[in-house]
Amino acid sequence: MRLHLIYTGGTIGMVHNERGDLVPYDFADLLDRVPELGALGATFCTSVLEPLVDSSDFHPSDWTRLADLIWAEAPHADAFVVLHGTDTMAYTASALSFALLGLNLPVVLTGSQLPMGVPRSDARENLITAVEVARARDAHGKPVLREVAVYFEYTLYRGNRVYKQSSEDFNAFDSPNFPALASAGVKLVFAPSVEEGAARQAAAAQRRAEGAAPHTRFDPAVGWLPFYPGIDETFVHAVLNSGRKAVLLQTFGTGNVPSQQWLAEALREARERGIHLIQVSHCRKGGVGSSEYAAGRILQEVGVLSAGDTTLEAALVKAMWLLAQDLSADAFQTVFARNLAGERSEG
Ligand code: ASP
Repeated sequence: MRLHLIYTGGTIGMVHNERGDLVPYDFADLLDRVPELGALGATFCTSVLEPLVDSSDFHPSDWTRLADLIWAEAPHADAFVVLHGTDTMAYTASALSFALLGLNLPVVLTGSQLPMGVPRSDARENLITAVEVARARDAHGKPVLREVAVYFEYTLYRGNRVYKQSSEDFNAFDSPNFPALASAGVKLVFAPSVEEGAARQAAAAQRRAEGAAPHTRFDPAVGWLPFYPGIDETFVHAVLNSGRKAVLLQTFGTGNVPSQQWLAEALREARERGIHLIQVSHCRKGGVGSSEYAAGRILQEVGVLSAGDTTLEAALVKAMWLLAQDLSADAFQTVFARNLAGERSEG
């Protein structure tokens, strides 16, 4: 069992130096710092994505570097664990879920709220169990997990379904629209949904074997327009005229926006200029549907795409991923509405 561990930065890989500052530790010492890993029956190989960064500094081009590294190492590895800062882990997990479609291997992202070496740190447990998840095999010796997942505080989540919900609890992530893939108590118990994820990966791997190349690039030309009481024309125009090819509209509830004529016109004009408008919700649970309210009709009339119950992190990343594939406008709209990597319930 060959496990490739990739360190990208973030709290989990930091220790206090003699001056009390948090600095990244020498990753080569990992097995010395966490000797329990040596007892897990895996051969470890490690990579560091230089330069190590706070995940707030991650750029879509870093998702590409990470995905390319994983594809390049895949022939020599049975599973991957990625150590990453928590702040933007949901974006990176979503990005990898698209860029690694068809990899068909476990890729588990984890991090921690407190640095390794601090008393009460969650780093050790998160790392050890992430490795346990990645090495889990079924009765036929195949990996139980074959998709991109996030492991945190005794729970394994589908990577493109999480968001960071807390900056202070150890339980930093939540996946309100999709149940956990596994829970870690005395035993590691996987949910039946891992099989659905594995089936999707097997189908994507088959398409790859027939010559479909993986897409690992992202076009960051996506904007984000949150609606709020008092939003005005100047602000909406500034976002819609900022040169983005797609804009996420973060709407109220099931997909409602102020029912004002200037807004309908601004959105219609943006659509006429070829900008893809994608609707997500301020609500983390549920998502956008076909709104029964007059306040939501505008969006349907204008031809706004619904992200359904996709998280806004995954919707943003999906738009960047599809834009980088130079699809026609119609194909973008059709493909965006599909469930490509388990990121939405319908479609
Ligand atoms: N700011 C850090 C990061 O996201 C926080 C963490 O690692 O939890 O890189």
